[in-house]
Amino acid sequence: MPFTHNLLLLKAHQGVIPTVLRDFGDMRVKIGFLLKHLKEFLTEAKGVKVAIDDADHGDDCDACVYLRNVALRLDNDLGLQAIHLGIATRLWENITHRDVVNAAETTDFLSLALSTRGILDSTFRSSLLYWKMDIRLYNKQLAESLDSLRKLKWSSMGAHLDDPALVAALDQFAALSNRLKQDSTLYADPQPTFKGKVDHFRKEDKVGLEAFFGECDEFYSALSDMVHGGTASMLSAVPPGPQIVLASDDLRFVASAHHLAELIGVTLVLAHKLLTMLYLPLLEFTLRHVEGAGTVAETVQAIASQARSRTQNLSF
Ligand SMILES: [Zn+2]
Repeated sequence: MPFTHNLLLLKAHQGVIPTVLRDFGDMRVKIGFLLKHLKEFLTEAKGVKVAIDDADHGDDCDACVYLRNVALRLDNDLGLQAIHLGIATRLWENITHRDVVNAAETTDFLSLALSTRGILDSTFRSSLLYWKMDIRLYNKQLAESLDSLRKLKWSSMGAHLDDPALVAALDQFAALSNRLKQDSTLYADPQPTFKGKVDHFRKEDKVGLEAFFGECDEFYSALSDMVHGGTASMLSAVPPGPQIVLASDDLRFVASAHHLAELIGVTLVLAHKLLTMLYLPLLEFTLRHVEGAGTVAETVQAIASQARSRTQNLSF
């Protein structure tokens, strides 16, 4: 019986028929705009990192320590956004060549799924840190990261982890139970899972983002399924055998290129929404509470509201 059941599911997986419903020319205009806009937007956001570094007084007061933590997060998060944008740009160029029949491959979908998962994860992770303003949450991130680093037995690593006080602190951290890692004097992690973080924001929602948080949750699950080898979406995107060649203006393509274009567009709009609706507003919130960082908070607000006004009613 289990094998018969498996056959039923397998056939369903392999029999998914791709459909093409959208206007490629229309997607082309939107994707072109989004790529250009996000590139400019990320360049502006990088300026915030410089401004935060400049707001540091150079001592080790609580405000400076907090700002250094925020700068570290921001650097990482913008890096992931830049990687996602780079992948989207390269994949888009790959399926818009003039003299060939454009097609997408399984690895194209996987790359995009990985990078989109990355920005979703880091946005919710950092947004919670910015929102909670509890240094213990940052401690947990840092200790976990350093503890993981020292577990890597690369010959080039580990030279900076010889400080006895640091080693003792990491040993202490590693020995803690998960419960104490999530709530103790030095460490806290109230929502360790992605879903937990999303649900936390859902509950705290005061700005009407409920539907958006729901979309993030569902999309993250779908992307995880792709990355973990769930083949249904992949097979529907890249069917085997001869295919119908479609055309739009000067481009020719098969269904897989069309599907990839749509996924590119959807993830670019998502990247934009994550930055303007969640990430930057909470970065601004956290900076407003740090002594001496008010001007940087103003800059963040200006960048976010300008980006929102340039992309009103953005959808894909
Ligand atoms: Zn200071």
